[in-house]
Amino acid sequence: MVAMLAGTLAAAVPVSAQQQQAHVHGHMTLDVAVDAQTITLAIESPLDSFLGFERAPRTDAERKRVANLVARLQSADSLFQPDPEGACKLSKVALSSAALGLGEKQEDEHGHDHADKKAHDHEHASIDIDIVFTCTQATEARFIDVKLFDSYPRIRTVAAQVATPQGQFKHTLRKGTSRLNLSH
Ligand SMILES: [Zn+2]
Repeated sequence: MVAMLAGTLAAAVPVSAQQQQAHVHGHMTLDVAVDAQTITLAIESPLDSFLGFERAPRTDAERKRVANLVARLQSADSLFQPDPEGACKLSKVALSSAALGLGEKQEDEHGHDHADKKAHDHEHASIDIDIVFTCTQATEARFIDVKLFDSYPRIRTVAAQVATPQGQFKHTLRKGTSRLNLSH
């Protein structure tokens, strides 16, 4: 009964409320949804964890860091590697960061106050990364190997929430325990 109630409450919390709590340097959230033929990953992270700064790049070196980051995230299957048993292929990556001018928020810098408000609060900025894998048998995948920690040492913890046909699970990943099990 308690578990059932907790599940109901968690499902009722709006996504925006969860995201507002997500900006802790070194920490990111990763929501994984496993369906019959897709595995979807939704990440929100402070930009600091990837870049060491949280604003538009100002120098050539910073612009190069941003370009390298975007290129690496676009080939997200090198950073997130589902269990080969699922026979998954990367099919879509969407990046969104108002500070970097990525995604649909980029034209709202001064015209609107809703989309990039978060980016201006306390001079913090985040990046949202949405990744879709198309799989022959997604539910056969037992894990996803997360390869972020060596490439981006500022990332210390990843709070993962997994939703599968078998239920919902939470796991915390760190350097050294970077395999995300898609079960308990
Ligand atoms: Zn910050």
